[in-house]
Amino acid sequence: MTNRYDLHCHSTASDGVLSPAEVVKTAADAGVKVLALTDHDTMDGVDEAQQAAAQHNITLVRGLEVSVSWFGYNVHIVGLGVDEDSEALQRGLQNIRDFRAWRAEEIGRRLRRDAGIEGAYEGAKAFSNGQSIGRGHFARHLVAVGVEEDYNKVFKRYLVRGKPGYVPGEWAELSEAVSWINEAGGQAVVAHPARYKMSRKKLCNLLEEFKELGGTALEVVSGTYSKDDIFNMANLASKFELLASAGSDYHAPGNWSDFGKLPPIPEICRPIWHDWPLINQIDDN
Ligand code: AMP
Ligand code: MN
Ligand code: MN
Ligand code: MN
Repeated sequence: MTNRYDLHCHSTASDGVLSPAEVVKTAADAGVKVLALTDHDTMDGVDEAQQAAAQHNITLVRGLEVSVSWFGYNVHIVGLGVDEDSEALQRGLQNIRDFRAWRAEEIGRRLRRDAGIEGAYEGAKAFSNGQSIGRGHFARHLVAVGVEEDYNKVFKRYLVRGKPGYVPGEWAELSEAVSWINEAGGQAVVAHPARYKMSRKKLCNLLEEFKELGGTALEVVSGTYSKDDIFNMANLASKFELLASAGSDYHAPGNWSDFGKLPPIPEICRPIWHDWPLINQIDDN
């Protein structure tokens, strides 16, 4: 059985390639019944997605994915059921987006200086909506101009830590991300915990701190996970008494995960949606 909840995906409001309405239609066509749009550091796409959801008989959860720095790691915290009018959230996200805008120019400068690549900032910007430029836009541009043949390879060669286009910097603090989400009436979820290159001990420290700060869940099922990852994350969710979430982290058709393919959450976990009012409408795990 597949999972009809998909609580993590991206649109053109950040680094996805489909518009919010197209994302909703694509998810609905693939059998998703409850979808959260979780763009990086913005909720700008959510209204459009909500309107499309009404047409496609799908329930939309208003979400986002907040970029956090934690002991030098870039950790992502998904917020679900978030009211974007919350002032603390708005202020916090504006600061992150200001950093993101500066960082994009800096990535361009470093690619020129250290890798001899001209025009990367302008190219990446053209792939974005101009509001929220991320490394994904740089990767698409560098593929389009033939610097690398494949999206993931661009990351490996140019955009990850230690490579010319990686710009370290301070995103939000973990405590800020959790409190903005909670104050906005949402639930905080550690995104793709199996994907951080952290020791198990470090990951346990992260989850312990997250729980103490008022975090709710972790992604036990993610589009990029192996079976072992799901098993390990399910165990961590029970160890730290966190609820379990599931999300593809969809960015583009055929990229790393298409909609409608997520496996169910293992039975030892309690799904984050267990007490959501819409649970009654969906017969799923
Ligand atoms: P940013 O928030 O601009 O630093 O970009 C983070 C995004 O880049 C992630 O959400 C992914 O979409 C993408 N990303 C990060 N690392 C990789 C990687 N190693 N391979 C492919 N995509 C990646
Ligand atoms: Mn992304
Ligand atoms: Mn992420
Ligand atoms: Mn994501």
